[in-house]
Amino acid sequence: MRKLGEPEAAKWLLSFDFDGTLYHPGDSPPVPPEFFRTIQRLRAEHGAIWVINTGRSMGHFVEGLVGAAFPFLPDFAVLRESEIFSPNGFGHWVGMAPWNRDCERTHKRFFRHAKPALAAFRKRIEHETGAEWMRHDIEPAAIIARNEEEMDWICTQLDELRESLPNLGWQRNSIYLRFGHRDYHKGSTLAEIARRLAIPPERTFAIGDGHNDLQMLDPKVARAIACPSNAIDEVKEQVAAHGGHVARQPHGTGVVEALEAMVGHP
Ligand SMILES: [Mg+2]
Repeated sequence: MRKLGEPEAAKWLLSFDFDGTLYHPGDSPPVPPEFFRTIQRLRAEHGAIWVINTGRSMGHFVEGLVGAAFPFLPDFAVLRESEIFSPNGFGHWVGMAPWNRDCERTHKRFFRHAKPALAAFRKRIEHETGAEWMRHDIEPAAIIARNEEEMDWICTQLDELRESLPNLGWQRNSIYLRFGHRDYHKGSTLAEIARRLAIPPERTFAIGDGHNDLQMLDPKVARAIACPSNAIDEVKEQVAAHGGHVARQPHGTGVVEALEAMVGHP
């Protein structure tokens, strides 16, 4: 699998959340074929560069591309809401070295410093909820709640935790939450890709359906923002408040609808 040929000039930057936005396992195929046709057209007519911006890690992401039978690769992938990759000429994913190196160093330093405060928070969560705390090599601290309500409650406790850890960031996706440094999220990664391509927010499009998309659905990063009809209320409200496009259709067909409505028009 390769990416599309480079456009003469990169004019638009398009960022797509994966799960629940572009990709829906209940649809067959999980990404609608008209999405890929639309991308090819926008590439040819508007020099569009596209990014999949996801919380998935590399293995899970590649699984998704194969499972949805992508006919070609995106120009960039943001993984774990923080690291940036692009495919080389052989279709192998290569990390954007300086950004990913800084990201890794910043997180190592942050988690070293945050260890006692996170350990105390873990005790509390395990005592007061039925949520599960996750910790392994590539995921220093994450929580899986039993349901949305439990995660809503956990999120209300995070502002207090941030008082002792001002650099604390977190990415929530329904009942899942991952801790990290506050400077790394879908918005900062998208802004970095835009900076490298010299594409302004006026010609940056972003679409997502969940909490971890809110930071890229931000006019400082993207002026063309959208969500599919299945997005959570908080996302719909933010998109509508900034004059974005709340699609009438869900998932991938909502993505195509939003692209047709917003990209390539002045
Ligand atoms: Mg999503």
